[in-house]
Amino acid sequence: MASFDLDLFVIGGGSAGVRAARMAAQRGARVALAEAADLGGTCVNVGCIPKKLYSYAAHFADDFRDAAGFGWHVGETRFDWDVLKANRAAEIQRLNGVYQNLLVSAGVRILTGWATLCDAHTVQVSTATGEERFTAKHILVATGGRPSVPQFPGSEFVLTSDSMFDLEPFPKRLLVVGGGYIACEFASIFNGLGARVTQLYRGEQVLRGFDDDVRQHVAQEMRKQGVDLRTKLDVASIEKADGALLVKLIDGSTVEAGTVLYATGRVPNVAGLGLEAVGVAQGKDGAVKVDDAYRSSVASVYAAGDVIARVQLTPVALGEAMVIVDHLFGEGRRTLGYEFIPTAVFTHPNIGTVGFTEAQAREKFGEVKVFRSEFKPLMHTLSGSGERTLMKLVVDAKSDRVVGLHMVGADAGEVVQGFAVAMKAGATKAVFDSTVGIHPTAAEEFVTMR
Ligand code: FAD
Ligand code: NDP
Repeated sequence: MASFDLDLFVIGGGSAGVRAARMAAQRGARVALAEAADLGGTCVNVGCIPKKLYSYAAHFADDFRDAAGFGWHVGETRFDWDVLKANRAAEIQRLNGVYQNLLVSAGVRILTGWATLCDAHTVQVSTATGEERFTAKHILVATGGRPSVPQFPGSEFVLTSDSMFDLEPFPKRLLVVGGGYIACEFASIFNGLGARVTQLYRGEQVLRGFDDDVRQHVAQEMRKQGVDLRTKLDVASIEKADGALLVKLIDGSTVEAGTVLYATGRVPNVAGLGLEAVGVAQGKDGAVKVDDAYRSSVASVYAAGDVIARVQLTPVALGEAMVIVDHLFGEGRRTLGYEFIPTAVFTHPNIGTVGFTEAQAREKFGEVKVFRSEFKPLMHTLSGSGERTLMKLVVDAKSDRVVGLHMVGADAGEVVQGFAVAMKAGATKAVFDSTVGIHPTAAEEFVTMR
């Protein structure tokens, strides 16, 4: 029997890596984790958490406007970007410390530096004090992803979401390119914070892959909020002139912007990891190929999270990490189902969704019943806001099972989480109908649609 320094070496201290390291150590495994940047990874440092904090900040613009109809006289308001940035940075630093404490108290050895695979059981870490090598029975690659930007004349002038949180000065005139999660969320956020935002999407409608009614509704609401959303358009080139960016579009028109954000997808972080030398099979954009237990083509090497490019969401990365830990140090019974993963897009208003779109359901189940409701939320009867909420259920006609649930409206993510439990449990439309609503809420609409 070969002996190793460690039972598990984790490369990457993001959502997947920290969860796996901590849970494995709590089960008695000898674990080390290497992180080249800040603990917490994308989600904590430049993703979910700072993004949601900025989304809250942007919502105040609506709240101040909405208050008047309820009798509140809000005086002159002023947004201070520097205060938001400083408070966010302090909170993120606190979270970095929380992650460190979680790992240390579980007994994980933390190495600050870049890790590379040397062979199927050896990892080398370059730290500030030099190179160190470790042997491990198992290695987990949890290196996440990074933004991907196409190359075109002037692409050197664009930023990615990583740079948006600390921008100096505030981007008063922002062009956002892309139609996915990040583009729509950042367009909404910076619009709410007071920037003039133009968003370009190359296709017919933003948020490809979401339900068509949701896509159409959220695009309409974003435009109502003030985002200049233009579809079937793309950038041809960018030039810098007098401190501004002149963005030439493929239709011959020009947009002037101070900042151009490219949110055109993310690719796995695999460069310089040594995967090729060790023989780890890779797929599109270098994603690590894994089986149902997240084992790669090299038996001792596992991978989870954005680096396997299945579903790029924090709770999915956490779920994958838990399957691996259970497989290596537990009973090996845990699995992760990729159907009915709920998700939210923090646009203004939010999207919350779980299950199949209407089009996907028709394709998979044949006959489906669709229930749809579009209405002015109670709050906006007095606020004067023109915002409308969309709610939609997709039901498999044969089994009566609710297979798709979609919402665009205030706190849609909060609403949809609970319904996702019911849907995983196989709830039918009859069960929805027999459930008593909570009145007056928007959520009750899901149990009263006939
Ligand atoms: P990461 O969290 O990216 O962690 C990988 C870590 O590995 C990084 O810290 C990196 O520095 C480190 N690393 C890489 N290579 C090496 C190496 N060779 N040696 C040492 N360290 C290395 N998901 C949601 O569910 N909800 C949201 O609201 C949400 N919002 C998002 C907003 C933005 C702007 C972005 C970009 C993403 C968002 N996501 C959201 C997605 C979510 O952040 C990711 O799915 C999640 O962080 C993936 O976790 P991970 O562990 O796979 O990778
Ligand atoms: P997405 O894959 O969601 O969207 C990428 C967008 O960029 C699409 O609209 C795509 O268009 C467009 N695009 C791709 N390549 C080009 C190009 N060369 N030129 C112009 N447009 C292009 O990626 P994001 O970067 O928005 O986010 C990455 C992932 O991070 C998300 O998929 C999600 O999993 C996760 N995330 C989750 C969040 C949440 O849970 N709230 C928030 C933010 C990120 P097309 O549709 O035509 O391909």
